[in-house]
Amino acid sequence: MKDGQKMAHFVVVGGGQAAASLVAKLRSDGFDGRVTLISAETVPPYQRPPLSKAYLKGEMEEERLYLRPAAFYDEHDIALKLGTEVTAIDPIAKAVTAGSDVIAYDQLALTTGTTPRRLPAAIGGNLKGVHEVRTLKDVDGMRPSFQAGKRLLVVGGGYIGLEAAAVAAELGLKVTVIEMADRILQRVAAPETSSFMADLHRSHGVRILESTGLDRLLGEDHVTGARLADGTELEVDFAIVGIGVTPCSELAEAAGLNCDNGIAVNALGQTSDPSIWAAGDCASFPYHGERIRLESVQNAIDQAEAVAANMLGANADYLPYPWFWSDQYDLRFQIAGLNTGYDRVVVRHSDGARSHWYYRGDELISVDAMNDSRAYMVAKRLIERGISPAPEVVSDPETELKPLLKA
Ligand code: NAP
Repeated sequence: MKDGQKMAHFVVVGGGQAAASLVAKLRSDGFDGRVTLISAETVPPYQRPPLSKAYLKGEMEEERLYLRPAAFYDEHDIALKLGTEVTAIDPIAKAVTAGSDVIAYDQLALTTGTTPRRLPAAIGGNLKGVHEVRTLKDVDGMRPSFQAGKRLLVVGGGYIGLEAAAVAAELGLKVTVIEMADRILQRVAAPETSSFMADLHRSHGVRILESTGLDRLLGEDHVTGARLADGTELEVDFAIVGIGVTPCSELAEAAGLNCDNGIAVNALGQTSDPSIWAAGDCASFPYHGERIRLESVQNAIDQAEAVAANMLGANADYLPYPWFWSDQYDLRFQIAGLNTGYDRVVVRHSDGARSHWYYRGDELISVDAMNDSRAYMVAKRLIERGISPAPEVVSDPETELKPLLKA
């Protein structure tokens, strides 16, 4: 730690995974100044991934979602200011407006996350029974509707929509997913993966309608139906909207910080104001000559920890090694790497498991593994080490994967 930081006050805005990881890392790295975490949510930071999986299914208690028990924050002398919205940052005075208080900081970290895109009110987005999936409150609001026989319309075939559809189908609901693009998961996966996932859902009775836009949701007060772009009308008991997210960068923009698809940070995680940092879903950062933003738990944890260390003077660039996962039915879907710019995908079948290997030229950049943890683990390490086995080698089911790491 640098001199003069002893009684410094570090303030973290946001109450998600990145916020929780950042404050914990400040303490584990020995910071003994003041730490305040300010969150608009009324509960301590919690895990979001189970919200559209086990928690939605009713298989997980709320307390088990908490990343740390409430006592952790007391024990580590971290002031939790919950149910408090930060409405302004004054970078000159180095202070934030939080509810009715003005709180001075020495260094500030923004971990404000993203907000779900909503369907416009003009097409029924404000009707009762129309839900987004982002917060505990959102999921608590929709859970009572998850009853066998109810008709659920899912708008958007991304992870949110598909995970919710899987839970609903398993609980006996009648589920229709509509996806505007010509295939589900188009933004994040190759056609081979989209078609595998669509087949999986169809085999569980979910109706997947691709190349299908929504004209509007129907209903007086509560949603009762939907008219699709081709004029078809569906009867609906409730709807879940998973049409992507936008980074929460309004506070940063209003404070004059550079923003570019989120809050722009340098490789250290520092914004255009050297006393203000950002991490997690809200932050766009340099990556192989581009600027990217990652919407994943792994990035929220790793980037937040890197930023905490840099707030204490580590001066180390953050380099992500992305991975993601999704659980749907009895499928464990794991993704290593980022597939941006891929030009070839090879499919590997082995012992009933399956994996899709993405190449950009000769370079292995990403792998989707379906119930194939071995392929996932090896692929992740190959990508991290920059080793690219030839496509025909990985697609050969006789190839043992682990020895490829010795190349
Ligand atoms: P997403 O991955 O952006 O998927 C949204 C999908 O909805 C896209 O395919 C989009 O198509 C489609 N869409 C947009 N407008 C539509 C409309 N009017 N009608 C029908 N389809 C429409 O976002 P998401 O699924 O909402 O997820 C939100 C965030 O949570 C993302 O960051 C996601 O990665 C994260 N998440 C991750 C996991 C996981 O990693 N397991 C699980 C849940 C959520 P276009 O691309 O053509 O616009």
